[in-house]
Amino acid sequence: SGTLNLEAIRKDFPILNTKVYGKQLVYLDNGATTQKPQSVIDAVDRYYQQYNSNVHRGVHLLSQQATEAYEAARKTIASFIHTKHEHEVIFTKGTTDGINLVASCFGRAFLKPGDSILISAMEHHSNIVPWQMICEEKGATVKVIPMDTKGVLQMDALSALLDDSVKLVACTYVSNSLGTVNPVRDIIAQAHAKGIPVLIDAAQAIQHIPVDVQELDVDFMVFSGHKLYGPTGIGALYGKEEWLNKLPPYQGGGDMIKTVTFAKTVYNELPYKFEAGTPDMSGAIGLAAAIDYVQGIGLAAIQQAEQELLQYALKQLSQIEGLRFIGESPERSGVISFLYKNTHPFDVGELLDKQGIAVRTGHHCCQPVMDFLEIPGTARASFAFYNTFEEVDMLVAGIKKAAAMLD
Ligand code: PMP
Repeated sequence: SGTLNLEAIRKDFPILNTKVYGKQLVYLDNGATTQKPQSVIDAVDRYYQQYNSNVHRGVHLLSQQATEAYEAARKTIASFIHTKHEHEVIFTKGTTDGINLVASCFGRAFLKPGDSILISAMEHHSNIVPWQMICEEKGATVKVIPMDTKGVLQMDALSALLDDSVKLVACTYVSNSLGTVNPVRDIIAQAHAKGIPVLIDAAQAIQHIPVDVQELDVDFMVFSGHKLYGPTGIGALYGKEEWLNKLPPYQGGGDMIKTVTFAKTVYNELPYKFEAGTPDMSGAIGLAAAIDYVQGIGLAAIQQAEQELLQYALKQLSQIEGLRFIGESPERSGVISFLYKNTHPFDVGELLDKQGIAVRTGHHCCQPVMDFLEIPGTARASFAFYNTFEEVDMLVAGIKKAAAMLD
């Protein structure tokens, strides 16, 4: 690819030089988590070495510096996803935490017996189970937008599914198991036409596709820092101000209150109402450094380079006899799920691992997808902008070697 200067970029990620089993690491498990550039590692390091302190409470200088950096991180996220207000960004532990927050708070405020939540057939467990839990509590049900065997949502079914019982639609932007990029604009428009709010799981989108929450007109959006080249344990929930103001708080504790007496507590304003307790300051600062890094390259350039890599990989892999792609949506992101003949995906994964090639195998937290396709799971290669055409070639050679051993 001529789009990005990969030689320079790869030097920014120390782990990419690692050897496993004495072989050069080929890291193709970016859908699970991405590697971190030195600037992120340094930002976290600098925080602990120079100004670690609790936020929002101290009169002293370090606390003021920590608070400023934490709030600056919020601002970085807000401008990255183009929110109207900074206080529409809530720090979370990640995607799972963000969905649980919305499911719990929205469910407590708005769900009653007979209501339903509409999700899609390709959701990650984290966008299924929290809805099942709150629906069970409230006597509501979870309904599903079906998909076809290529892993494409059956949009012609959507209109009938959006009946009066639906109180919220929760759908993934990009499928982590199939690579499908869903028509979220269309889903949001159809839901809004019936006055129904929409949550988008952007865990696999935020690092690949430029996202503008105002242009999408999405009501809630969640993502994880660790899939966006940032630290683990930090993520963000975006919510439209009007919706966040309508929800009750999630957890109670310090920081989320204005005043507390034993008789009555007055909750804090946004965003603090949803951030009980000491937050992950170093995580937030690291995430902001990751976003700065990504913006330094530019998401449009990243998207183009990753699409070129994906098309190359699809072409090369399709020449391996007996290899079958799982997920064949024409609209897709840098995820390739596959099976080799009737072998178990774990066996291919293990044989690739021994060659230094890291892929993931299994159901990828999408058991309903695997049940629907009647497969035990897949082997999955997932790409980041730092992956090279040579690494794709190594994957192809690695699969051929594994295939020879399995045949
Ligand atoms: N949704 C999707 C589409 C994902 O890919 C993932 C992570 N595999 C999650 C949700 C959950 O993210 P996390 O584990 O970071 O909370």
